[in-house]
Amino acid sequence: MYVAADPFETIRPKVLIVEDSLMMLKRLTKLLYSAGFAPTVAMNLQEVEQILATDGDFFAAVADYCLPDAIEGEILPLLIDANIPTLALTAHSDISIRDKILALSVVDYVPKDSPAALEYVVRMLNRLQKNPNIGVLIVDDAALMRNYLRHLLERQHYQVFEANSAQAGLNVLLQERSIRLVLTDQDMPGMDGMRFASEIRRRYGNNRLSIIGISGLTNPVISARFIKAGADDFMHKPFSPEEFFCRITRNIEFIENVQALEHAANRDPLTNLSNRRHFLDQMARVKGEYCVAISDIDFFKQVNDTYGHDIGDIAIQFVGQLLQEHFPDGLTARFGGEEFVTAIANGNISDFVSRLNDVRQQLMHRPVTTPQGELRLNISIGVSAVTKHSLTATLKQADEALYLAKQQGRNQVQLAG
Ligand code: GH3
Ligand code: MG
Ligand code: MG
Repeated sequence: MYVAADPFETIRPKVLIVEDSLMMLKRLTKLLYSAGFAPTVAMNLQEVEQILATDGDFFAAVADYCLPDAIEGEILPLLIDANIPTLALTAHSDISIRDKILALSVVDYVPKDSPAALEYVVRMLNRLQKNPNIGVLIVDDAALMRNYLRHLLERQHYQVFEANSAQAGLNVLLQERSIRLVLTDQDMPGMDGMRFASEIRRRYGNNRLSIIGISGLTNPVISARFIKAGADDFMHKPFSPEEFFCRITRNIEFIENVQALEHAANRDPLTNLSNRRHFLDQMARVKGEYCVAISDIDFFKQVNDTYGHDIGDIAIQFVGQLLQEHFPDGLTARFGGEEFVTAIANGNISDFVSRLNDVRQQLMHRPVTTPQGELRLNISIGVSAVTKHSLTATLKQADEALYLAKQQGRNQVQLAG
């Protein structure tokens, strides 16, 4: 049987590095390997031709513009024609070469003399992996401009959406939850770009997507006005592809960081369910009636004592997942230790209790598989019926019902009141 030396080898995306400087080649290879890629190296165009003759399956290429047997950047069209997304490395800061490279469909170009060049290569390769799941919406009444922006974005593998007016853009945003960036023109019939930006903020707040305003108007206050209206950034037309890519990357990374922080603040890392804080925040927004249940694993301390904490963790994950599966219409959170809370809005109490009993019975009959063998768990559940009371009072009621369930022999559901 073949055993891979590196367990991640099979899932490492293959990257072709083409570079004639041995020092640079070594540095790049090491860096890309530690960033999780599988590098293949070539030092000139001829070697690339040989490699591509037998293997075309590259996730991306990083190629030096000037090679001993291809001094005019001939390597770039060769890779692009082979459908390999290509980052061009160049030692020349010469403007005409930069423009020549960017006129080709390269992913981006990276000047080797910049101190952060290699980190930038890794950043762009990481982007290429993530971008197919990231939506960018272009809103412009001019089809020519939309096409141009689409072409640039597709080079970096973003999922691109278009709208020819702000109103149409709002409709696309309703449909497409993957959109993380909106590029909007200012001058459009109907709603203009600034009003569009403020409408997006009114509907979606600041954490779901970034907005970049675009305008050809020479009015110097337009950029500030766009940002005051809710945009994160502004680009003046005409702009270079280089500026475009820098701003896109910057704004996408910004929103990803905001979302990562939000996720870390709201989620329980063990179960990936909402944590107590997120549950309380969400419930504070509920206007109508709701039912709440608190579920607690029975004699859980014994599970830890008998099988160890790691197995205890698996049990907690299992119960959390089961509750989540049974209440896709509700909100389940890990409230603490081995205690979960589930809420459904406007719920029918008998349906709620019956589904909770399903969870309890499934646990009795379906053992949890762990590295230490199969484990049977019981849970006790306290339920507070449809209520208009404050959340604190409702949780207290459910907690009292849970206490009763424990006292009356555990492995049961008790209804408060
Ligand atoms: P009861 O039936 O009355 O609920 O008894 P119990 O043993 O389940 O309850 P108790 O509150 O005495 O013990 C809960 C245990 O849960 C104690 C604590 O060490 C353990 N615990 C809390 N958080 C975690 C966790 O994240 N992982 C693991 N493995 N154990 C945890
Ligand atoms: Mg317990
Ligand atoms: Mg407990």
